Order: sequence, then C-alpha cells, then structure tokens
Amino acid sequence: MQASIQSKPIITNHNMINTMNNVPCPVCGRPTEHHIDGRCRECFLKTVTLASIPLVIRTNICPMCGSVKKGKHWEDLDIEIEDLIHGVIEQALKIDTQARDVSISISITNSNPSIYRAHITVTAGIKGVKAESQLNTEVRISKETCDACSRMAGGYYEAVVQIRAEGRFPDEHEQQQMVELVDEVVERQNQRGDRLAFITNAQELPEGTDIYLGSNSTARQAVRLAVERFGCRYSESPTLSGKKDGKDIYRITYSLRLPRLVPGDIIKVGKDTVLVNRSAKMTTGIYLESGLEFSEHTDRLKDAKKVADVDEAENAVAVSVEPDAVQVMHPSTFRQVTIIKPAHFTGTGGEDVKVILMEDNIFILPS
Ligand SMILES: [Zn+2]
Ligand SMILES: [Zn+2]
Repeated sequence: MQASIQSKPIITNHNMINTMNNVPCPVCGRPTEHHIDGRCRECFLKTVTLASIPLVIRTNICPMCGSVKKGKHWEDLDIEIEDLIHGVIEQALKIDTQARDVSISISITNSNPSIYRAHITVTAGIKGVKAESQLNTEVRISKETCDACSRMAGGYYEAVVQIRAEGRFPDEHEQQQMVELVDEVVERQNQRGDRLAFITNAQELPEGTDIYLGSNSTARQAVRLAVERFGCRYSESPTLSGKKDGKDIYRITYSLRLPRLVPGDIIKVGKDTVLVNRSAKMTTGIYLESGLEFSEHTDRLKDAKKVADVDEAENAVAVSVEPDAVQVMHPSTFRQVTIIKPAHFTGTGGEDVKVILMEDNIFILPS
C-alpha cells in the first residue's frame, strides 16, 4: 500500500496519541491507532537502532597477573574470565540514548580459551515502544605481559629499603617483622592502584636485609610506617641510575635503623640491671633490683650492654614476703633465696612470679 503525501502533515500533528481513528501509517499505509514519530510501530522500529556491537572485540590479558589492558593502560582486575567478558561486551555495546529500562542478557560459549562467542539480547523501551535487539559478537583474548610484570621480570626497582639496627645487628625476629611490614604496605599500595608496588628482590646479609622495591612511593610509605611502629630512624640516599626523556633517574636507598634498645631488653647500666620498657630519644624502664623507675637519654646509654631478654623469664614461687624482702624458691635449685622486695611487687606470699636469673641474682619481673 502507498502512503498518501497529503495525509503526512496531518498525522505528524497527531503523532503522540491518536486513538480516535485509525489513520493509515504514511510509510506502510496500514491503519494505525498509535503513531510514533508519524509512523506505525513497525515502521518506527525500523528507524531506530536500539543496540550495536562490533563483530570482533579484542582484549589483552597479562598471563602473569591477570590484569587487563584498557586503551594504553593496564588495570588490575581480580575477576573471573566470564565476568571479564561480560564487562568487555557491556563496554563495547552501543545503545540508543533514547532507550529506557534497558535490560541486557548475554550468553557466552567458548570453543577455545582465547575465543568467546557471545549472543546478546537487548530489550528496552523507546518512546514508549518496546524494542528488542539480537546481536552476536566474538571476544578474542590475547596474552600480553603487562608493564608491571615485565618490569618485575626484568628486575626493575626504584628503591632499596635496608633493614638495619642502631649499633647492633637486627635479630631474625625483628627482620621478619620488618619484612612483613614492607609486605603489608606493598599489598595496600597495590590495592590502591600502584602497579609498581612489588618486591623485586630481597637479600639477607649479615647486617640485615635489603628489600628491592618497584615503587619508590611504596618504599617511602613502608619507611614511614617503620618509624611509626618500631621507632626506627632512617636516612636516604639517591643514586643516579640512568636517564629517561633527558631527565636523570634516581634510585633511592633508605637505610632503616631499628632502635638499639627495644622493649623487653634487659641491660646493664653501670652496676644496675634495667628492664627497658621504651626507647626513643629517652629510654625508660625499671631497675630490676629495686623496682624503681629508670629514665635516661638514649645517647648516654651507648655503653649499656644487653645482658638478657624478658623472653628468658622463668616461673618461680614467692614463698614468703617481709616488708623489705621476698623469699623466692629458685626454679632450678629449689633453694629459698632472699632478695630485696622490688617496689612493684605487691604479693603476700605463695604467688607465682616471673623471674630473671642472672649469675647469682634473681630478679622478680613486674606482672
Ligand atoms: Zn508503517
Ligand atoms: Zn601482569
């Protein structure tokens, strides 16, 4: 059927709602109650493209870390491959801007691990007319080592964090704690999107551990946390490592020094035995014999030697207590030994106590 040219403007005037009479569609001539943009429903739908998608979508994935290339950049995506394909399709899908209440369903089949065929159904309303599009596409996945992984594989590093201690070698436990701290910061920075937040190498040396890091800002964060958490001091020194775009590139070495004294150290200060509670600029603790408080500038304790550690404490029994003395049963000889009652001790006899044995002395530790 042919559309009459004269009737066209009349219908356009009533194009929103025309329920009074069945005016023919100007395109196909069918009698139509509702005209949309001056046409019947079918003729209107022929003028819109609800959705379109390229026949082939290519995406690059790093086989090492699973990150995905978006344009020129790589993004860490910790998701299943099917979710990734869905995301890639939804991104490539172009939907008419007039569409409302859009619903998309995607079914995926894959013949091999790098080619995924997808059938997509898009339904939506356009100008009150329900429209549907059936589309097919193919997502092709290529493997490409990402920037971060290729740098890591190439031993790339921007900074070295050296774990050391002031005037001594850090023990294994301390080094382990510090390595865990660096790991913790690497993990955190990685989640915050620093793709170079990785450890390239860790070297154990007699004087400590050297940790090589891909990202200088991550190294700096780790150093700050070590200062905060363990009272470390540090110094930093740059080394020229090359040029990039005419600019000098530096690597930074952070030398982290754990405090010489740490809580729990038992040190000899002159003739006195002191349990360290805290050591920063000042070192504080208690005199083990009297139980009185100890406080001294850390700089003045250069000659103080660590003689024991609270971890070496043994269990004993305070047998009886006098105003100024305590009888303690020696944990290995089982003899009763009388010692000066330390200020912190409040027992009345019969208590279990922690003691430190040193040469001929027994010291009761504060509980
Ligand atoms: Zn029509
Ligand atoms: Zn990667």
